[in-house]
Amino acid sequence: MEQEGILIVVSGFSGSGKGTIMKELLQRYDNYALSISATTRQPREGEVDGREYFFKTREEFEKMIAKDELIEYAKYVNNYYGTPKAYVQEQLHAGKDVILEIEIQGALKVKEKFPETLLLFVTPPTASELKKRLVGRGTESMEVIEQRMLRACEEAEGMDKYDYYVVNDELDRCVEEVHRIIQAEHSRSYRN
Ligand code: 5GP
Repeated sequence: MEQEGILIVVSGFSGSGKGTIMKELLQRYDNYALSISATTRQPREGEVDGREYFFKTREEFEKMIAKDELIEYAKYVNNYYGTPKAYVQEQLHAGKDVILEIEIQGALKVKEKFPETLLLFVTPPTASELKKRLVGRGTESMEVIEQRMLRACEEAEGMDKYDYYVVNDELDRCVEEVHRIIQAEHSRSYRN
């Protein structure tokens, strides 16, 4: 994939606050585009099809896989999640830095396909803060929260594959840190 902008993958435990950081980053700076994933999970209250996700049935999702329309996809707590190719390619060509907010299996697939991808991992300050945020969000049952906590422990083992970790202790500081990391990435010798 020929690219003018940088491909950036942001991962983090469910409840790490990475979504909020990305939304704020997009509001502050106009050189970023956020990829919208396809998923088979049910929409949460307030989520809109085509804004947070493209909500798909399992059959629709499997068709996208068969037609090679996804850059990567993975299963996460019993649902499929994947990144549609077309939008990402279009935005990179237009010179935008494209952010994929995806979990670790997908992140590693993207890095394998496109080695110049920048991998960022967002962590909450402590594990108890993570659980507090997941419960406080009130969008998942306790059973799903436990599954997501378990998945967070598994993902922690792959964290060393990422280029940078960002501790989400304070939103404003975090947004600026992510922006600075990406800007510095533009100056890397192999990109010029
Ligand atoms: P949630 O259900 O909380 O919105 O997302 C669950 C997990 O799936 C999060 O870690 C999120 O980053 C990840 N995810 C969202 N979209 C994609 C995608 O397109 N591909 C992959 N591999 N993971 C995704």
